[in-house]
Amino acid sequence: MEKKEKLLELAAQVEKCTRCDLYKSANHAVPGEGSPTAEIVFIGEAPGFHEDAKGLPFVGNAGKYLDLLLSKVGLKREEVFITNVVKHRPPQNRDPAPNEVVACNGWLDAQLSIISPKIIVTLGKWSLNRYLPQKKISEIHGEPFQIQNVVVIPMYHPAAALRSSKLAAELEDDFLKNKRLMQKPQLAGQTAQSLGESGQGSLF
Ligand code: URA
Repeated sequence: MEKKEKLLELAAQVEKCTRCDLYKSANHAVPGEGSPTAEIVFIGEAPGFHEDAKGLPFVGNAGKYLDLLLSKVGLKREEVFITNVVKHRPPQNRDPAPNEVVACNGWLDAQLSIISPKIIVTLGKWSLNRYLPQKKISEIHGEPFQIQNVVVIPMYHPAAALRSSKLAAELEDDFLKNKRLMQKPQLAGQTAQSLGESGQGSLF
């Protein structure tokens, strides 16, 4: 099966997911969208109001800002894949609970293993926690890390940047600093610091 069909089949399963209770209050699951052959995957936290209404990731204000950031590094939304740690909206946009993150992890793992990106951009602490749980985002944002077969670039969440002009300036700077890498993901690894068994094994 092609990557596209595999992702569609997975999305259909996510839409029926009852692994935690979030589906009960959500209108739509938000599996993610973008190119099945993307070399870069962006991972946010969880769908908000607009994403829940449309079933698509990052379509509210944070999403518009993400589109602007992508354009600054010459990328289009259709060229990358955008998804979240949690696929159903937590009520009132509260933080996802640990059991909800655990319940949803398998979906994200499966998406990543189908897409097999060279670069993962984590947006905010929830996705950063998947890869570098000991690290603080304020200390490592914008620094690429090689983790096994993938380069992880931790970034602030666009919604946090919309609330703080200081964070917005840092986030834009982090995108620009990584522009070359994001335009040529095949360079991933040459510039990243290595963590763990760089180049050996597979993260997904
Ligand atoms: N914030 C996120 O983390 N994800 C979305 O899809 C929208 C807003």
